[in-house]
Amino acid sequence: MQFRNFKMVGYVVYGRGAFNQLDEILAPQRKGDAPMVFLVDHFFEGKPLVNRIPLRGKDKIIFVDVTYEPKTTYVDSLAKELKESFGTVSGIIGIGGGSAMDLAKAVSLMMNNPGSSADYQGWDLVKQAGVYKVGIPTLSGTGAEVSRTTVLTGPNRKLGMNSDFTPFDQIVLDPELTKDAPANQRFYTGMDCYIHCIESLEGTYLNEFSKSYGEKALELCRYVFLEKDQWDEECDDKLMMASYAGGMSIAYSQVGVAHAVSYGLSFLLGTKHGIGNCIVMNHLEEYYPAGTAEFKRMVEKGGYTIPTGICAGLTDEQFDTMINVSLGMKPLWENALGKDWEKIMTREKLRALYEKL
Ligand code: NAD
Ligand code: ZN
Repeated sequence: MQFRNFKMVGYVVYGRGAFNQLDEILAPQRKGDAPMVFLVDHFFEGKPLVNRIPLRGKDKIIFVDVTYEPKTTYVDSLAKELKESFGTVSGIIGIGGGSAMDLAKAVSLMMNNPGSSADYQGWDLVKQAGVYKVGIPTLSGTGAEVSRTTVLTGPNRKLGMNSDFTPFDQIVLDPELTKDAPANQRFYTGMDCYIHCIESLEGTYLNEFSKSYGEKALELCRYVFLEKDQWDEECDDKLMMASYAGGMSIAYSQVGVAHAVSYGLSFLLGTKHGIGNCIVMNHLEEYYPAGTAEFKRMVEKGGYTIPTGICAGLTDEQFDTMINVSLGMKPLWENALGKDWEKIMTREKLRALYEKL
């Protein structure tokens, strides 16, 4: 038995207003006049948060476009621009949801690794540490703040740069930053965390490490999405910790059916991660009966909208593409259904599931 020896985030600060400590946190990491570069979710352009970014010397803010999930071409162009402008930088700070944080991780790695980020999509292909990197979530749920991956859409596949060099050196968990998230978006991203918990806790890879974190994250999700009648600061505080714990849970296990199926949607139709997972979770009674029923109660309680009929009118070829992408996620299926998963999840069965979405 070979146990996973995984790399974690270096430093964590948590609390309302923790963002105000950023200047102090960055100071010892500054190397001469090499700037800190802030990759900020474009939602914050013109918002008060921008004035609180502690700029010094040649520091630069780049508002990143997260309309689409991060692409390898976008990562490469950001890294190229920074190398041309500055040679090197002191650090990259990602401020935003999972997309902006993933961009920051990937750009940090590409500052010190040759070629294209597409060359590193896979497991342990990154050979050099990136530049110092910080993650500051403004949406809670993906667990991207703690994970050892950065999910990128490349020319041939949608796959992360999974490596020991990928986790952030520092994360700043300040729940105040999530307060303006629109209710539906907050729910989709929050459900990413809920689904991480269900897939981890119901999976065959489960051990006490991932169970401890998964159970806590699940309890927090239930509190904010089922017990509370009104969203408030306490919900933001709790959901941020749920995201962290959910991410820690899958670090030592794996996700499952909802993610494997949702990857196919995302590859073919560009469906975003959070909403894609929700679209699939709505139809997983057979695999996660209790989790699916509870998910539906959460949707109903908050009055959220989950799209339906998104696969209507697709061609056989398009279904095949989604099925190929999905069945390619072997560890997810093995975690969900066990070693004999290929006998259970046949192409026909998966096609029938896609047709329901
Ligand atoms: P997101 O980062 O894609 O952002 C969704 C929308 O919310 C965007 O329009 C953004 O501008 C907006 N937004 C962000 N913060 C806001 C705020 N405080 N107020 C108002 N609007 C705000 O959403 P997400 O669900 O956090 O992240 C999804 C991405 O994360 C996908 O690209 C997915 O692949 C990735 N992901 C990565 C990991 C990982 O481990 N690296 C895990 C899960 C998902
Ligand atoms: Zn996820």
